[in-house]
Amino acid sequence: MSQSQEAFQPWEAGGPRDVRASGKEPAGAEPARADGRKTFALALDIGGTKIAAGVVAGDGTIAAQARRSMPVPRPASPASPDPDGAGPASARAAGVDAEEVFAVVQDCLDEALAAARMRPDEMTGLGCGCSGPMDWPVGEVSPLNIPAWRGFPLRARLRDAYPGGPVLIHNDAVALAAGEHWMGEGRGVRNMLAVTVSTGVGGGLVLGGRLLHGTSGNAGHIGHMVVEADGPPCPCGGRGCLEALASGPRTVAWAIGEGWVPSGDQPANGRVLAASARAGDGVARRALARAGAAVGAGLASCASLLDLEAAVVAGGFAQSGPIFWDALSASFDRHTGLAFTRRMQIRRSSDPSRIALRGAGAFILAPERYAWEG
Ligand SMILES: [Zn+2]
Repeated sequence: MSQSQEAFQPWEAGGPRDVRASGKEPAGAEPARADGRKTFALALDIGGTKIAAGVVAGDGTIAAQARRSMPVPRPASPASPDPDGAGPASARAAGVDAEEVFAVVQDCLDEALAAARMRPDEMTGLGCGCSGPMDWPVGEVSPLNIPAWRGFPLRARLRDAYPGGPVLIHNDAVALAAGEHWMGEGRGVRNMLAVTVSTGVGGGLVLGGRLLHGTSGNAGHIGHMVVEADGPPCPCGGRGCLEALASGPRTVAWAIGEGWVPSGDQPANGRVLAASARAGDGVARRALARAGAAVGAGLASCASLLDLEAAVVAGGFAQSGPIFWDALSASFDRHTGLAFTRRMQIRRSSDPSRIALRGAGAFILAPERYAWEG
């Protein structure tokens, strides 16, 4: 990320819904244990392309962290034999098996522990945010972008590898919501939504100061809320979902359909599209504005349904600059007529990767607000 992007503030010049400087006291700090020693948890954040692990303390500080890239599939060689004769060509082409991915996860966790100079038995437990879908709360995961894991028993495997404390796994956007509420842009707020606009569009909810799970762990999954009736088809099988209008890949696909071409030999992805928009490309600008407007409409509906104080937006487009944010804000204004909906503040996640780790730690370290049974 460039310096200018890092410094970008969506509501600079005292935008109407920015109350980050309101002076509210952080409500997140947890007391130390009765014996005065700090508590710690292992935290894990598994996305489609990256794995992050950390040792998080009960006061929300990250004692140490480690990162790994997701193992990359090796291209299939048409000349190579298929030794077990099993599976379709696509499965063989994936070239990364479930154990290989888990070994990288374990390696990453062990590096974080070593960097913190701590042992597994000094951890209260292990919290994990993982990209979905998953069977919750069982913790069998099938992340769309990790084809090697289909029904992978991640929770059971982590319990075996790091015994002694609870292991809790939730969707990565839910971990982000817990982290934003515990230690991020949602501190001191009782009712909030966290949204991530990335390869997919996900979200998590905190209501009445507690993380909400829903029946199957999908409460707050804003990505499949309909924002345009009979709109474009969505990967979920529906139409007009927020994800179909605002995800990185769908926005890039729309731009390409309108004639956008990445300059030079750059890949056609959300980051390049956003750079193209900032450089003034008309189609790219319209594409980002279209995504922002869809998110603004979705947030307006959430404000109406849930009477929220704040929504925190993370993900690549959230970092992309004013084209996305101006469209989001205008759309939110257009779709909120009632005073209570207009009062909802929209904030940009300031440090989503560290916040997601803290959120995973919060499952263990602040269980009265963020943990669950099962
Ligand atoms: Zn959908």
